Amino acid sequence: MKQQEYIQLEEKYGAHNYKPLNVVLSRGQGVWVWDTDGKKYLDCLSAYSAVNQGHCHPRIMHAMIEQSRRLTLTSRAFRNDQLGLFYKELCELTRSHKVLPMNSGAEAVETVIKTVRKWGYQVKGVPEDHAEIIVCADNFHGRTITIVGFSTDPGSREGFGPFTPGFTIIPFGDAEALEAAVKPNTVGFMAEPVQGEAGVIIPPAGYLQKVRKICTQKNIMLILDEIQTGLGRTGKLLAEEHEGIEADLTLIGKALSGGFYPVSAVLSNSEVLGVLKPGEHGSTFGGNPLACAVARAAIKVLTEENLIENAEKTGAYFLDELKKIKNPSVREVRGLGLMIGMEFHSEAGGARQYSEKLMESGILCKETHDNIIRFAPPLVISKKEIDWALERIEPIIREK
Ligand SMILES: *Cc1c(COP(=O)(O)O)cnc(C)c1O
Repeated sequence: MKQQEYIQLEEKYGAHNYKPLNVVLSRGQGVWVWDTDGKKYLDCLSAYSAVNQGHCHPRIMHAMIEQSRRLTLTSRAFRNDQLGLFYKELCELTRSHKVLPMNSGAEAVETVIKTVRKWGYQVKGVPEDHAEIIVCADNFHGRTITIVGFSTDPGSREGFGPFTPGFTIIPFGDAEALEAAVKPNTVGFMAEPVQGEAGVIIPPAGYLQKVRKICTQKNIMLILDEIQTGLGRTGKLLAEEHEGIEADLTLIGKALSGGFYPVSAVLSNSEVLGVLKPGEHGSTFGGNPLACAVARAAIKVLTEENLIENAEKTGAYFLDELKKIKNPSVREVRGLGLMIGMEFHSEAGGARQYSEKLMESGILCKETHDNIIRFAPPLVISKKEIDWALERIEPIIREK
């Protein structure tokens, strides 16, 4: 079949809730993907950081195949021989006390909202049904009704109300705004350490430390959504480490399975997850043995193959080289590890045209909003592969 035929099938039979680039991929390995005509591309999106370990990583693939031969799903009505090991290895790696496994990122977010509300009522003493959670403008935490209800992106929320009450929105990167927003019924503050979908927005230095202090002083839970920033993407295992702090609750997902399978988790540093009792929360697939085996392999690959250090080193190089590209329509190039955003002046026209030109020359990335391109290749990328990318990116950005 021709690429155009695959595209027509998607257009005809699928809901149009995405506007993908017109490239039909059929194979991937490491940082590379191939389309149905055999053309090779360097993946600079990594499925929004879900394939940090690179496409079809052989060790994760092996774990998936082996486990799927033995046992895939038991439900949590029974125990399985992978879950406990997954908990232990993930807790040791992240220095957490407890884990609650789910599937998608949005489910981890929903789980944390339920958990901190319950903590608020049972431990903090907030009157029932009055808990408030503070979140940031321009956040991205997923797509459920509750989550889009506290989004500030009109496209994400308009037409989907009525929404869940109990959320307060403050500007991102502004610790004073947090301090002022905390009320007696506030139970938590949730933010991304670096806002990914908003366009790689890095808060001012010291922000997370200030936020940590405020949350401790006011007795509210600090929730960091590291679904995108976590697991090596920013050059640290968790982005919170850049400021030497620990959140009370951390959300991870995406790269937790290296792109093989949806696996997410709520990690808790204190005993807050202990407020959930049997029957109060769950998921048919959450914590299944296949997910656990895949996630165990995915986190081993991250650490044993030094992907976190590689993200720090190659990310710094990539960022420096991208900054050297001269083009007056580039407003800023910023990044942390291999999470890099190139922002254009809005009058320079859409970033979409750059994504399309980059695709033609063999670089896959996706604009976020109209004027920002994110470069976030798998963390297995080498300096040589970054040079390959730069040779193609430079003439496209430089022209115009
Ligand atoms: C992708 C993402 C989510 C949602 O994850 P899904 O698996 O798509 O539900 C939540 N938070 C952040 C920061 C994300 O990047």
